[in-house]
Amino acid sequence: MITGIQIKNQVENVVSAKVTVWQRELAGAVRDPLLLMQALNLVGEGVSVEVVRQFRLLVPHSYMARMKPGDWNDPLLRQVLPLDDELQVVEGFNHDPVGDQPSLVADGVLHKYHGRVLLVTTGACAVHCRYCFRRHFPYSESNPVKGEWEGALAYIRANPDVREVILSGGDPLTLSDERLALFLGQLAAMPHITRVRFHTRLPVVLPSRIDAGFLQLLAGIRQQVVMVIHANHAQELAADDVQQALAALHSAGVTLLNQAVLLRGVNDSVQAQVDLSEGLFAQRVLPYYLHVLDRVAGAAHFEVPESEALPLLEGVRQRLPGFLVPKLVREVAGEKAKTPVV
Ligand code: SF4
Repeated sequence: MITGIQIKNQVENVVSAKVTVWQRELAGAVRDPLLLMQALNLVGEGVSVEVVRQFRLLVPHSYMARMKPGDWNDPLLRQVLPLDDELQVVEGFNHDPVGDQPSLVADGVLHKYHGRVLLVTTGACAVHCRYCFRRHFPYSESNPVKGEWEGALAYIRANPDVREVILSGGDPLTLSDERLALFLGQLAAMPHITRVRFHTRLPVVLPSRIDAGFLQLLAGIRQQVVMVIHANHAQELAADDVQQALAALHSAGVTLLNQAVLLRGVNDSVQAQVDLSEGLFAQRVLPYYLHVLDRVAGAAHFEVPESEALPLLEGVRQRLPGFLVPKLVREVAGEKAKTPVV
């Protein structure tokens, strides 16, 4: 359990520490589309400046290193590549496809489902995924970190039915260990909270984030820890540093799950899904959900209709044992649980 003294020590350590490796890597991530194209030897097509203005490009070098040079169809590149398609206005695609706004109960706190609250901890990410359902979320207006989490902690404290706290964002692992320790230390004192869940892409896109300091932080958490890593393609896992990060998390006792999004041009084939499930389990991560796309404005070109998703998943079912077949779901605004696609 994290004590007050440990928190104070962590704060002092952070104040005196140099910038960490992962923070330096994040600061040096690619933000300029021209640099991305040059680094990957991409010629022949342009990247939309207007689209980047609306939702900027962000790609860590370690993630870019797993892309195939010269290939516009690389499945990792497709996830981060700003295209003019994003400017199309498509009926049924809006700014809040999963009903976040009506579920806000305190600064950055979403209470949609029984027994769980979700904290939108930050608007920062280590990568900008073009299909992101929170790409229009008003982070600056709703941030639980302001006031050192007071509003969020007060809400959780006052609701003994809440058993699980989900740290989401943005990406919660872009917060420093110091900030996370402040929050987790307060949570440790709430006996009704039995699980802490992180939703993060950092073990995949910026694996240096899983460093000794973070592992020490995890070791001090009283509750069970679950981490959902949001990998969409086996190629994302094909790097030594990613595999080392996942092994370290597993050794630290973290339950590792994956939640993917079914994306046109990225993972919309039986083979891609089989490879993803096999690749995840090889790293001790269980495939958990496969989401059909949340219909966020700007992402319509990624959509795979349910009429295609269902036979695709049936194909996966015929190739893999049941525990490697993710549940195909959709998030429907206002529903009390994820909706199975059947
Ligand atoms: S890491 Fe998650 S929150 Fe951040 S842009 Fe990607 S999908 Fe959205």
